[in-house]
Amino acid sequence: MAVIIDGKATALVVRGALRKDVEAFAQEKNIAPGLAVVIVGSDPASQVYVRNKHKACGEVGMYSEVHALPAETTEDELLLLIDKLNKDAKIHGILVQLPLPKHLDEEKVILAIDPRKDVDAFHPQNVGKIMIGNFSFVPCTPAGVMELLKQYNIDPAGKHCVIIGRSNIVGKPQAMLMLKENATVTICHSKTANLAEITKTADILVAAVGRANFVTADMVKEGAVVIDVGINRNADGKLCGDVDFAAVEPMASYITPVPGGVGPMTITMLLKNTLTAAKEQTK
Ligand code: NDP
Repeated sequence: MAVIIDGKATALVVRGALRKDVEAFAQEKNIAPGLAVVIVGSDPASQVYVRNKHKACGEVGMYSEVHALPAETTEDELLLLIDKLNKDAKIHGILVQLPLPKHLDEEKVILAIDPRKDVDAFHPQNVGKIMIGNFSFVPCTPAGVMELLKQYNIDPAGKHCVIIGRSNIVGKPQAMLMLKENATVTICHSKTANLAEITKTADILVAAVGRANFVTADMVKEGAVVIDVGINRNADGKLCGDVDFAAVEPMASYITPVPGGVGPMTITMLLKNTLTAAKEQTK
């Protein structure tokens, strides 16, 4: 039987500490850390994420504003707003909710965000800093995974960490963070040959694929730590991860459930990045 890693409880602990840090910051600087969230269009999942981020800011005493723009917003209009937010002293972090409608160039939009306010850490300057291991911001989901490991005293040093997925948002930065913590890292993707043979050698297995029940028991080593980043809907429309939880849980030493595992940590790490941004901008 595995220890179930409780992301909800861990997020509460981290947010409790954060609330105190935010309070101390606000007292010293006479300004609350501020986050601007920009959403274009009416994608229902994105709207839920944005609402949750706004609510979470309020809960830890941060200032936040949501800019909800219509789907037909032009690139120039969006870039103008980002420019305004870059110059706004109340705002220390800017997050543009992805995906954007097809007519908007995501790369151009990310490049327009002041790297010091890029709390998602998607700007190439911040990506580069992660590569050299000297960074202020870390993409929120991989950072949340590392925080979970820390809170459960799981030290990646010397362990073989296998990551399934190589996206810029999860897989690649996750690999860099594991490497920084001295894990031996293997990144797998859709062209990887003999995937199960590789995943079976993992002491820590991170699944970031986006396919329900993708990781089956025959892909997991007895006693492995299994981290499920995936957010999917199963055939019944219920939220589930990438891991076949019922089959894998009995053989794992630790495992994250979905929901209630990595998910709650993502927003928590966004709050942490916003405080870091505020501290750096008010030095
Ligand atoms: P992407 O679609 O960008 O990346 C998926 C990765 O999985 C790709 O690298 C792809 O390989 C790989 N992959 C797909 N099929 C296979 C296969 N058969 N074998 C091996 N690898 C495969 O997704 P994201 O990284 O953005 O997200 C991954 C999951 O995590 C999604 O379910 C997403 O919803 C969830 N997520 C959860 C978050 C949270 O807060 N918990 C935050 C962000 C994402 P290739 O590169 O070759 O195509």
